[in-house]
Amino acid sequence: MSLGWTPIAEEAERAARLRHPDRHGMPKPAHRRILTIANQKGGVGKTTSTVNVAAALALHGLRVLVIDLDPQGNASTALGVEHRTGTPSVYEALIGEIGLVEAAAVSTASDNLLCVPATIDLAGAEIELVSMVARESRLRQALNDDALDELNVDYVLIDCPPSLGLLTVNALVAAQEVLIPIQCEYYALEGLGQLLSNIDLVRSHLNTALHVSTILLTMYDGRTKLADQVTSEVRQHFGNTVLRTVIPRSVKVSEAPGYSQTVLAYDPGSRGAMSYVDAAREIAEYGSHMDEQTDGA
Ligand code: ADP
Ligand code: MG
Repeated sequence: MSLGWTPIAEEAERAARLRHPDRHGMPKPAHRRILTIANQKGGVGKTTSTVNVAAALALHGLRVLVIDLDPQGNASTALGVEHRTGTPSVYEALIGEIGLVEAAAVSTASDNLLCVPATIDLAGAEIELVSMVARESRLRQALNDDALDELNVDYVLIDCPPSLGLLTVNALVAAQEVLIPIQCEYYALEGLGQLLSNIDLVRSHLNTALHVSTILLTMYDGRTKLADQVTSEVRQHFGNTVLRTVIPRSVKVSEAPGYSQTVLAYDPGSRGAMSYVDAAREIAEYGSHMDEQTDGA
């Protein structure tokens, strides 16, 4: 009997893992990982992927910090973290007014999940930063080892705004890795060249450790031929960097933030939730073997 290989058995196994995440913990990374979730196109699933991957890692025993670097504050909302004006936020941490630890709040999604929220004040930061000293490395300074040790986190995920401005540059300077979400739709690859050349620029001038470690295909609609074409084109181009897990287009995923929740809390048994858990597991497995890999930096 090879029941273990049937799709139904596989689904049942995934569902069981989801109901009892503590029994199926994800491995700690070889060293703390800082990932920037970037793509200058809006609406490709940056925020959705940031919060749901973060929640999945946290629910499986890892300590995670999300930095909301988009003035819209959508990641803060989805994680159930206050982000009204006046709330200690990433803005004050960037301009050096407060430390990271002061700005971090615990998410309603998990006690293991912290979030430094973005308030509308961040909208002005893009311009204010221009005249500041070390304007490209303000976030890196805020994310110093002492602060991250104090918060005791295994993962830092930085959710970028939909532009290649100074906020995104700060995120690229602060991270070792870039996770690029790609929407399985027409024009999906448009603008990707520009993002990659910006990453190259940051690597050669400001952050030699930076590399694209992870590509996540999102909003996959199995009914369209186009989705498959985009998927295979991306896989051809980026090879192993692309996660095997593809996030399906799912109404549950888009409804969850309306309830200030991740999809894992909103509907843990949904395909969207399970895919994000699978994607997070792939990310965690890769991280646990990182020191054995040679293509790191
Ligand atoms: P970005 O941060 O790149 O601008 P978002 O994560 O905010 O993109 O996603 C854009 C919109 O698409 C949001 O309304 C979000 O709820 C929706 N969305 C994201 N992923 C999915 C999905 N897998 N299925 C359905 N809707 C999705
Ligand atoms: Mg966003």
